[in-house]
Amino acid sequence: MAKMVYRFSKDFVEGDKDMKNLLGGKGANLAEMCRIGLAVPPGFTFTTESCVHYFRNGNTWAPGLEAEMDSAVEWLEKVNGKKLGDTANPLLVSVRSGARASMPGMMDTILNLGLNDTVVETLAAATGNRRFAMDSYRRFIKMFGDVVLGIKGKKGEHDPFEAALESVKHRTGKKLDTELDAAELEEVVKLEKAVVLERTGKPFPTDPREQLKLAIDAVFDSWMNARAIEYRRIYRIPEDWGTAVNVQTMVFGNMGNDCGTGVAFTRDAATGENVFYGEFLMNAQGEDVVAGIRTPLKIAEMAKVMPHAYDELVEVRTKLENHYHDMQDLEFTIEKGKLFILQCRSGKRTGLAAVNIAIDMLEEGMIDEETAITRIEAGQVMFLLRPIFNTKAVKAAADEGRQVAKGLPAGPGAATGRVAFFSDEIQAQVAAWGDKAILVRIETSPEDIKGMETAEGILTQRGGMTSHAALVARQRGKVCVAGCSEIEVDYKTRQMKIGSHIVKEGDWISIDGSTGIVYLGKIETAPSEVIQVLLDKTLDPKDAPNYRKFARLMEIADKYTRMSVRTNADNPLDSVRAIAFGAKGIGLCRTEHMFFEGDRITSMRKMIMADNEADRRKALAELLPYQREDFYGIFKAMNGYPVTIRLLDPPLHEFLPGDDKNQKDFSEKTGISIAAIKARNEDLHELNPMLGHRGCRLGNTYPEITEMQARAIFEAACDAAKEGTPVNPEVMVPLVGHVNELKMQADIIRTTADKVFVEKGVKVDYLVGTMIEVPRACVTSAQIAEVAEFFSFGTNDLTQMGFGMSRDDYAKFMPIYIEKGILKHDPFATLDDGIFELLKLGVNGGRQTRPQLKCGICGEHGGDPDSVELCHSAGLNYVSCSPFRVPVARVAAAQANIAEKKGLKMAQ
Ligand code: PEP
Ligand code: MG
Repeated sequence: MAKMVYRFSKDFVEGDKDMKNLLGGKGANLAEMCRIGLAVPPGFTFTTESCVHYFRNGNTWAPGLEAEMDSAVEWLEKVNGKKLGDTANPLLVSVRSGARASMPGMMDTILNLGLNDTVVETLAAATGNRRFAMDSYRRFIKMFGDVVLGIKGKKGEHDPFEAALESVKHRTGKKLDTELDAAELEEVVKLEKAVVLERTGKPFPTDPREQLKLAIDAVFDSWMNARAIEYRRIYRIPEDWGTAVNVQTMVFGNMGNDCGTGVAFTRDAATGENVFYGEFLMNAQGEDVVAGIRTPLKIAEMAKVMPHAYDELVEVRTKLENHYHDMQDLEFTIEKGKLFILQCRSGKRTGLAAVNIAIDMLEEGMIDEETAITRIEAGQVMFLLRPIFNTKAVKAAADEGRQVAKGLPAGPGAATGRVAFFSDEIQAQVAAWGDKAILVRIETSPEDIKGMETAEGILTQRGGMTSHAALVARQRGKVCVAGCSEIEVDYKTRQMKIGSHIVKEGDWISIDGSTGIVYLGKIETAPSEVIQVLLDKTLDPKDAPNYRKFARLMEIADKYTRMSVRTNADNPLDSVRAIAFGAKGIGLCRTEHMFFEGDRITSMRKMIMADNEADRRKALAELLPYQREDFYGIFKAMNGYPVTIRLLDPPLHEFLPGDDKNQKDFSEKTGISIAAIKARNEDLHELNPMLGHRGCRLGNTYPEITEMQARAIFEAACDAAKEGTPVNPEVMVPLVGHVNELKMQADIIRTTADKVFVEKGVKVDYLVGTMIEVPRACVTSAQIAEVAEFFSFGTNDLTQMGFGMSRDDYAKFMPIYIEKGILKHDPFATLDDGIFELLKLGVNGGRQTRPQLKCGICGEHGGDPDSVELCHSAGLNYVSCSPFRVPVARVAAAQANIAEKKGLKMAQ
């Protein structure tokens, strides 16, 4: 095998920042930081390939790996002038995971490795600080016990190592870990060792080399733990990437009050503001900050207590941003006043921060426009459209004394929901309540990732802004208030105390992740700045700085895009909204929705009840004015943008009254007997309605329906055109599988158009096209394009029919399929690669016949960033999605174009 261990120190570096695939993000950046002269404790990195080999070979090391490790250890000992397990000058190391993509908190870390009963004494003597030595030892046993030996607390119970610490604190009456003295910490060590013996039947391992091998195995293994698997599923990180493992010389933040440790972001990760942002703890080790056990201090406070180290850190901030040209998230430790950098990576950020940072860096001249666009995960743009609390409702809540606590504003936005305490129960609770839920936990822990996904917002009693789970919350766009010490959660009684209030499981609370405030009860939410400016028009852009950055981003996105973005809209209001979000037309107007409003449904039902053409035409004549009015409104709103109108698609039984009450109402209104209604219902009943009498099959069996709809479209278009409004109708026939199905419909449409043009004395340009949503249509697309002037891929049905998987029933088995890895993702959300092949077949066949054939997509996939990228690669002219996803699709379309230009595949 190729080289499997890479070394890094200030004088000798084998890796660099571009080697993330092999060294993981952490390993690559440690090497890079050594290259740019930052103070990084030396160490070495096991490659991801060595991890992949481990899993492919029954959890065994690759031949030669152990020898590479030994020589790297020897080198590290020489660099440090210390030796593992040495009684005179012992070397201690950390062992940490580091995958290609950052997976905060999902995998494992072990610190202080190399300690045993003898080494701890040497450490105590060498540092003259027995307390520090014992503190390091008790932390090591706890981490090793948890991560390597798998000793954990049971549900609702404290971690047994934490219990050991608590028992000594309780006995001595001390509150903080830092108050315990050396003897008391030694007592904790003894208790912890007893836990290990009791749980594993063996004493704690004392040989540092054995400790190291076991720890590396454990970090490899953590790639397959449940949290990591769940995280990979959500972020679509392939399992076969594996993780790298970093072994690094320990530096100590817990040696006394001239020591400390912290994490920082070069800019604010929640808002994107250009301020140095971070937290630190004096006299502590890294896990204290991320685990959120003690609430840390703000980074600015460091200027007061350790001014020298603070100045150095500020320099590091500038150096990192100037080098990486991106916001960085870093971990540091100060050992006896000296600053060390332990990690840096591109910082996770909220959607708001992503947009603000990208536009700020563009304006600062740090990055160019293309880079600015690729810095944003397209899906994150959605978060700028998220609600905030209604100002009046919040004020009322405060006046009523419902503002009861304040924590840290860890994930911006407003959330209101019912309290749930357990991540493994929240999904069922949400289903049972039929309401949204807020997940309330004592500490934010990576184990909660699944629960956080379901929750509308997250509230924690302990933990800082940078606790790992808070990071995840922000990245997922969840509202989050962390470290709210005024709440007291009791898992046993399933309630929390906030001052004198008791909040039980299922009670309503509201949290504001932008201010950190917690309210009792429900609070009405109000739209975001972007919505207020664009849709409600209640805010002036000059008072809306976030909106302005959003608008700039959209403007740049349009500059770099090839595909245009349309919207799926059935009414003038949605059309206007979509235009405000930047849609350049309607890609799908589903006409059936128009039949449900007011009296229309009665006319529709009369049409369905009719048993002869004359009666059907009579009922259709009643519907005509309604349809015409709707189309007219849409043409006016779209003002010349293309409008794709799909003819009637669903099976007719969907329109008939199904229950007794509605049947009675309909009967009273029309004089049609209930028996006749029931009989027609039965008559229309189909075993497989999705494959039954629907789509163009309706128009081909009842041509008068198509005639009426075409008439409504062209009359409306002519009326609007006469008033000087440009119109651009595209009439779309659904569910075509055979070209003759389309031919017959196209004839009716064209004949009707000609008639209307004569009647109205005006002519408008229009296209007749079809949806491509039946696999046969993809295969015969060259023939279909002889008639169709455009194609719109209906990937909802195409997925359903291509996969033979009912879109209404698949939810029963899809979660299991995904859990078992049979499918990587939901094919109804993100285009499946097999269905994509069908789509390409359709595009290519169609363009053989008609090289300039306009092709688009109007299935749900049109708003999904990964699918948008595929659509771009297939050469589609546009994607169409719901109005609120238009901004997401605009960014995704630009990203796809930029990536193609640069010959890159977009980042996962
Ligand atoms: C489709 O099938 O993808 C489509 C857009 O149509 P509908 O969802 O209405 O079936
Ligand atoms: Mg369809």
